[in-house]
Order: sequence, then structure tokens, then C-alpha cells
Amino acid sequence: MEGFATLVVVSIVTVGVACAILYILKVRYFASDEFLAHKNAIASFVAEHNAIAGYVAEIRSRGTFDLGASATGGQAHLASFQNTSHWNYRRDRNVANYQAPNVHNCSLQVVRNASADPIKYVMKYFGIKADEAHLVNVEDLGESIAGLEEAISNLQEREASITVAVNPPAFILKFFAKDFMKQVGVELSPITVPYPVYIFEYVSAGGNSSQRTTFTLNSPTIDALVETLSLKIRWKKSAAGQRALMTTRLRNLIKERDNHTCRYCKISLAAEPHLLLEVDHIIPVSRGGMSTEDNLQTLCWRCN
Ligand SMILES: [Zn+2]
Repeated sequence: MEGFATLVVVSIVTVGVACAILYILKVRYFASDEFLAHKNAIASFVAEHNAIAGYVAEIRSRGTFDLGASATGGQAHLASFQNTSHWNYRRDRNVANYQAPNVHNCSLQVVRNASADPIKYVMKYFGIKADEAHLVNVEDLGESIAGLEEAISNLQEREASITVAVNPPAFILKFFAKDFMKQVGVELSPITVPYPVYIFEYVSAGGNSSQRTTFTLNSPTIDALVETLSLKIRWKKSAAGQRALMTTRLRNLIKERDNHTCRYCKISLAAEPHLLLEVDHIIPVSRGGMSTEDNLQTLCWRCN
């Protein structure tokens, strides 16, 4: 027993000493001429990274990230719900969620059908009607989500390039990755894409069983929803019927047509490999601009 206690003490001391050594090596590395020279060399690239991190926050705050709400939760905020059952405190049962706008409480049959045919059921139960106004809203959502996705992945690519350029010792990346970014001057963005999630949930009356189908609106599912809505809308010979659908495919097409070059400042992806490009409506949708190819242009994030 005594031997075991000694072993524990020795282990704790060893780990403590190892941590102290790592700490000293870290402080030395960040103060080294080699590190400071690298840091200076990439200062402007880091500054641009941080400007894009600020831009990500801007997209997040001005974009559209909500769509539709469940009828079962529509007025739930007006009431408060409590389970006053005598046994509630000792039973870990399934409790139906009536408060969240994106949860639809329904029968088991609907949960199963929704899993087989999610787009149809999301449209039906979350009030996304097949009309021009809803189509525009879904396309808006798609643009916000794609814009944020691209800006966030642009930041990640830049962070990877910064790591390659500075090329710190392996122990720095293994134990002090966040510290490394901070020392280089990189402001890490905490923002993630707030994908709308729709849930069909069945909870049995006694709370003994629960099943749910979850549907996430990300770029591919939004494109599928846009295409489904447009097929359902009977196009008349109106201007609205002539326009293209604002999908990932169209955004990529416009960037290719414009040679991945900003129409204002003429900077291109070929000249700047990490360039963040966006597809912009020349006449904004809010002022009646259409998603037609002649009303769309490629701009860099600075010009947009
Ligand atoms: Zn530009």
C-alpha cells in the first residue's frame, strides 16, 4: 500500500514537472526571433482574417435565418406548462415540447410520414406555402446560409494557411493551438451557421414513448425546397415566372460566368487564392430586382 502511495505521488510530480517544462518552452517559443519574424511577415494577412471575422458577425446579424413555425407551438408562449403529477419528480419521462416554434407535436403516423417525405411535411406543418412570397423567403434564407457558410470556411482556410506559414513546433499545435492563434494576432470567430431545424415529435399520453423526425435546412435541403416550391407554383406568364431560381447551382454559375472576378475592383480568385466572393443582386430584391442572370453579379466581400 505504501508503495502504491509513493507511485501516485511520483506520478503527480512527474506530470507537474512535464507541464512546467511545456509552459516554459511555450513562453520561449512565442518570444523567439523566429516566431516574431513569422508573425511580422503575415501581419497583413492576419489583419484581413480579422476583418473577415467581423464580416461574418455582420452576415449573422443582418441575414435571414428563420423560416416557418409550427401551428402546435404558435401560441404556446401565452401559457405556462407544468407537470403536477404526483410521480413526476421520480420519473424520467418524455415530456412533449410545446414551447419551441420549430417542434410540431403530432401522431406517430405523421412522424413516420415526415421521415419518408420531409419536404412535403415541413411545408405542410410549418406553414411554408407554395407561393411566390414564400419562395422568395426560402431563397433569401438560402443566400444567408450559403453566404455565412462560405465566409466561415474562408476563415478556416485562412487559419490553416497561417499555421502552415508560421510552421510552429508540433507541441505548440498539440497543447497550445488556441494560444498560438492569439499570439499570432488571429481573432477566432465563435459564430456557427444557425441552420433552421424542424422537428416532428410524437410523445405518448403517458410519456412512456417518444419518436421524432428531424429535418435540417442546410444548403442542399434548401435547394431541394426551392425547386419543390417552384414546381408547385403554377407559373403564369408573369415576370416572376421567368426568373431563375436562386440556388447553389445558380450562384456557382454566376461566379464562373464572371471568371471568379469582382466586377467592381477586378480582383480575382486567380490573383488572391483566399478571396471571398459573393453573388449580388444589382437591383436588390427589396426594390423589385429579380434573380435573373442579368441582375446578378460577382463581387468580393469588400465591395459587396
Ligand atoms: Zn471587389
